[in-house]
Amino acid sequence: MGALDGKAALVTGGSRGIGREICLELARQGARVAVNYNASAGAAAEVVEAIKQAGGEAFAVAGDVADAAGAAGIVKAAVDAFGGIDILVNNAGITRDGLLMRMSEADWDAVHNTNLRGAFLVTKAAMRPMLRARGGRIINITSVVGIMGNAGQANYAAAKAGLIGFTRAVAREVASRGITVNAVAPGFIQTDITAGMTEAQVQAVMAQVPLGRIAMPEEVAPLVAFLASGGAGYITGQCIQVDGGMVMA
Ligand code: NAP
Repeated sequence: MGALDGKAALVTGGSRGIGREICLELARQGARVAVNYNASAGAAAEVVEAIKQAGGEAFAVAGDVADAAGAAGIVKAAVDAFGGIDILVNNAGITRDGLLMRMSEADWDAVHNTNLRGAFLVTKAAMRPMLRARGGRIINITSVVGIMGNAGQANYAAAKAGLIGFTRAVAREVASRGITVNAVAPGFIQTDITAGMTEAQVQAVMAQVPLGRIAMPEEVAPLVAFLASGGAGYITGQCIQVDGGMVMA
């Protein structure tokens, strides 16, 4: 018996990195998983295959979360396949780093469109089936950068801080319907997003991590699974860090 047996989950950006591990962990705990991807069809298919090999149920669904029709299509595919959505994880995210003075409007917009507008569009589309079911779990993957800021990431920090505000506003709106909405803020996690950092950048971040190491995506997924479970029924509107102690407050 898993903590999420029979639950239907949708994970955006489930093809790689943290989203991939969230898909695998939710499935390990018994959930059926819709694995959304935008460009990485092969990687998404591998996640689905790994879940099926382990005896779970999953399928891949293409779609750009930043596009209203794309977001609606992703949610519809999950509802059509599973009959509803119990767990939504808004994980899809990108970076377009640069100092403010050199940051283009395109880089500002791209980061906001995927990281913040994407979460808005997918959550809005998933809200109707959750309201009908009078229950649900929404988990938004933000970042410690949205709490503490980071030079060179004004676009990303603003979008991730916005996602925390979004989490709290929606948590208040839907609490009476049995839906919880929380944010998880990873710190420094080894994925494609951080793979492009220079050694100097890595050392600068590491100096801010009391636990003194970078984390693996597998270290974020268990908290997401817990927030999706019955044991987290009295937790809503929170932002919980998985950051090796970078932010302590
Ligand atoms: P990643 O390895 O680059 O994976 C990003 C995922 O998002 C991929 O599956 C990608 O799918 C998907 N994606 C990107 N744009 C999309 C779109 N428009 N529509 C649908 N899916 C889209 O990144 P990651 O490090 O795992 O990051 C996952 C989340 O954690 C992000 O929200 C990120 O901001 C957050 N985070 C990461 C770190 C870190 O240190 N890594 C720290 C804090 C927060 P395709 O490849 O199919 O496009």
